[in-house]
Amino acid sequence: MEIIIGKTSGFCAGVKNAITKTEEALKQNKKIDCLGELVHNRQVIEKLEKKGLNIINNIEDAKSKVIIRAHGETKKTYEIAKQKEIELIDLSCPKVLKIHEIIEDYSKKGYFTILIGQKDHPEVIGSLSFAGENAILIGKEEEIENVIKQIEKTQIKKILIIAQTTFDLEKFEEISQKIKNILGNEYIIEIKNTICLATKIRQEETDNISKNVDCMIIVGGKNSSNTQKLYEISLKNCKNVEYVQTVNELNINEIKKFNKIGIMAGASTPAESVEEIINKIKGE
Ligand code: SF4
Repeated sequence: MEIIIGKTSGFCAGVKNAITKTEEALKQNKKIDCLGELVHNRQVIEKLEKKGLNIINNIEDAKSKVIIRAHGETKKTYEIAKQKEIELIDLSCPKVLKIHEIIEDYSKKGYFTILIGQKDHPEVIGSLSFAGENAILIGKEEEIENVIKQIEKTQIKKILIIAQTTFDLEKFEEISQKIKNILGNEYIIEIKNTICLATKIRQEETDNISKNVDCMIIVGGKNSSNTQKLYEISLKNCKNVEYVQTVNELNINEIKKFNKIGIMAGASTPAESVEEIINKIKGE
């Protein structure tokens, strides 16, 4: 049996930075609050909770310093923290902060923002908050008609189209081009591809591997947007795709039937999770 492991598998720079800095901060402080789960991975969170990390869902509930995770936060969160003098440890990924900056800047110049991303994702909620009222989220082509209607209602003729960092590149290009074609020359349209390079490379590698294996294993949290995308990409190319969070979910009897297996993990998946899976397959 041959096992091909994605070279870009596992923690991205933003997640690595957030985890390292959180561990460092926990050495100096017995307890630190984190607004939302630091990463979309239960095992990682449980380890950090044992070291004193406390997950809160609202900045108002802060009882100590508060970590802002790599996904970033809303403008309002920063305002409340300032008002209440809550000390923040801001671990927002610089790539997410760049999106906030672009959106805020274009909103001030009178642009309507179209954010292409996944509904209800924390990064998306944070980014949209920097646009004010004139902004809309779109995740699928079927929603284009509604987006156009909303824009027409505002009479705004300047449009910013921007992406969630972990969005699917192909889908982003399709949706943004279709919107551009429909709106036509009457509008000034700025398209900013803010998809993180790490995400793009990982998606491309997943695409390549899944085309050349009998079975693909995707490792990562079920609530992780970027891992979910890897699963969707693999499904397009391979009939047998397993999406597991830990080794315990692996259907080893099924896996044993295949000769060539590909493994890829999402940006919030620790290397140990992948190693455990490889050891289990090799052991069998
Ligand atoms: S996927 Fe990219 S943008 Fe998102 S946290 Fe990682 S490095 Fe930052």
